[in-house]
Amino acid sequence: TDAYLNAMEQTRDLNCYITETPEKARAMAKASDERIAAGKAGAMEGLPIGMKDLFCTNGVQSTAGSHILEGFTPTYESTVSQNLWDAGAVMLGKTNLDEFAMGSSNLTSYYGGVKNPYTKAGSNQSLVPGGSSGGSAAAVAAHAAIAATGTDTGGSIRQPAAFAGLVGFKPTYGRCSRWGIVAFASSLDQAGPMTRTVRDSAIMLGAMAGFDAKDSTSLDVAVPDFEAALTGDIRGMKIGIPKEYRVENMPADIEALWKQGIEWMKDAGAEVVDVTLPHTKYALPTYYIVAPAEASSNLARYDGVRFGLRVEGKDLNEMYENTRAAGFGAEVRRRVLIGTYVLSAGYYDAYYLKAQKVRTKIAQDFKNAWGQCDLLLTPTTPSAAFAMDEKIDDPVAMYLNDVFTVPASLAGLPGISVPAGVDKDGLPLGLQLIGPAMGEEAVLRAAGVLE
Ligand code: GLN
Repeated sequence: TDAYLNAMEQTRDLNCYITETPEKARAMAKASDERIAAGKAGAMEGLPIGMKDLFCTNGVQSTAGSHILEGFTPTYESTVSQNLWDAGAVMLGKTNLDEFAMGSSNLTSYYGGVKNPYTKAGSNQSLVPGGSSGGSAAAVAAHAAIAATGTDTGGSIRQPAAFAGLVGFKPTYGRCSRWGIVAFASSLDQAGPMTRTVRDSAIMLGAMAGFDAKDSTSLDVAVPDFEAALTGDIRGMKIGIPKEYRVENMPADIEALWKQGIEWMKDAGAEVVDVTLPHTKYALPTYYIVAPAEASSNLARYDGVRFGLRVEGKDLNEMYENTRAAGFGAEVRRRVLIGTYVLSAGYYDAYYLKAQKVRTKIAQDFKNAWGQCDLLLTPTTPSAAFAMDEKIDDPVAMYLNDVFTVPASLAGLPGISVPAGVDKDGLPLGLQLIGPAMGEEAVLRAAGVLE
């Protein structure tokens, strides 16, 4: 823990953490030592981790990357963070993120952007770590945490993991409790681990997951021994290659890595088959209707009365307006406006209802694919990490980052990003494996082969 606290100081210029909790970390580490001495070590005993600042942590400021929650100190602990502490993990601090987890770059954080520890060979231009779990990704990549939590609504674990050379695993929707996680889009939000290796991912997911009566969408199923699934044996496994993921203008490096991944699978004894997911092209527009719709509803609670920031006005309405105008950044306001629009009486059928129907079709595509294969293999992102000033003024270009991660989110399926190679500039690239609902063990087993 001391070594990691030291590394956090050395890497402060990356801006990985919104809040550092060194005293808490030392106290937790000491308690850990005592449990180890008493022969009572948990699965994550003594391991110092970063906690995405979307998780509510008892007595520690929890901001969701937003000005509106600055100074908000919960009096309760999220289920997932509590599960990790119960397994012996040590909290180093709360990691930076896009505001309310809305973004793919960490640039929308009120607390400033995060720098990716990786830069292009021969360049010192700062690159994004991806988002929204960008602080978690940069912290783990920079050895300022041994692992970190992420949340993924449309790719926020997998995309930053790909950009920072890490393993990022979004489990099946419902596998990890959402209780105590600041809500973005409740039908999509899911927590998961960001780690250096697949084995670490399996261990950490095992500690995070489990049924929770406090989350009505929590899956009431036992948590398997994920680590035991890492047999390395994928002989006879069928790996599907969805043809719709061959998008135009995909960089040659990513295309080549995908081909390489297919070869690794074959070499390990898997069978590779072509599959089709015909509604893939509708996934991004569907996501950018459903997610803002749910966000506009979830964010209605930030009214200056119950949480965080309040900016007074001459009456109650003006207080609401002043608080929300001062408290929310541009991207959050954009999403609230889009969400309110698509849910409004006159447009509900044309946008929101339509998007829900298309979402069902996308989920059905995956169900059909499972008739032909066990897992799907795709790239995680259509590019490597980009420059910090590259896409901030172009929301649509930013949204296109999510093209490979959003479909599995809409279908609630487990998806992992594995660091599988580098591009011509030496930047990390990820390959994604998607599995059927509750297929985490197969996903992890195959991920071990790509690593
Ligand atoms: N980049 C996507 C978005 O901006 C996904 C974010 C997430 O998964 N939290 O909505």
